[in-house]
Amino acid sequence: MNNIRKIINLGLFILLVSAFVNFGFKSIAYGATCSHTPTIETKAATCTSGGYTKVYCSKCGFVISYSKTSALGHLPATVDSKEATCTSGGYTKAYCSRCGFAYSYTTTSALGHLLVTDTKAASCTEGGYSKIYCPRCGYVSSYNTTSALDHNLVNEVTNDYTRTYCTRCSYESITPIIKTFSNKQTPSHV
Ligand SMILES: [Zn+2]
Ligand SMILES: [Zn+2]
Ligand SMILES: [Zn+2]
Ligand SMILES: [Zn+2]
Repeated sequence: MNNIRKIINLGLFILLVSAFVNFGFKSIAYGATCSHTPTIETKAATCTSGGYTKVYCSKCGFVISYSKTSALGHLPATVDSKEATCTSGGYTKAYCSRCGFAYSYTTTSALGHLLVTDTKAASCTEGGYSKIYCPRCGYVSSYNTTSALDHNLVNEVTNDYTRTYCTRCSYESITPIIKTFSNKQTPSHV
């Protein structure tokens, strides 16, 4: 009986050992038979964070190589500015042109219009105007016109002509008086 039990135990032991060895060989064989399919995964470095390049097997996940790159840091400041105008504000901005990080940003307020009055008096023949405008941007705040005044005519009558003139400007019109000679005044031949 004892011998039989020993033989059975030995048999079980051999079975367990062979099962373990078998399993071990199988797992080793599995690792050795994956013909890796390399896949590259990259993340580019940015101004503030590092990147990496990883080559791994897409079938078993084995990492073939892995290398890191450090953060790039911001680029030297790029300065962009806009002058303020009469109606809109301006700014001065210093920033990283790669990621937009702002080193500084200052604004200036709108200047407001420069209001200047320009007038032209009406004359006898031309109308006048009164204009309030901004010489910086051309904005016209108000524009009023006045019509031509027309001549202020006065007649001056002499024996020889009638002179009609304007008291305000240099306009004048002379109309000769045509004399009809009487018989007495007719020149006679000597
Ligand atoms: Zn693999
Ligand atoms: Zn940046
Ligand atoms: Zn203006
Ligand atoms: Zn006149």
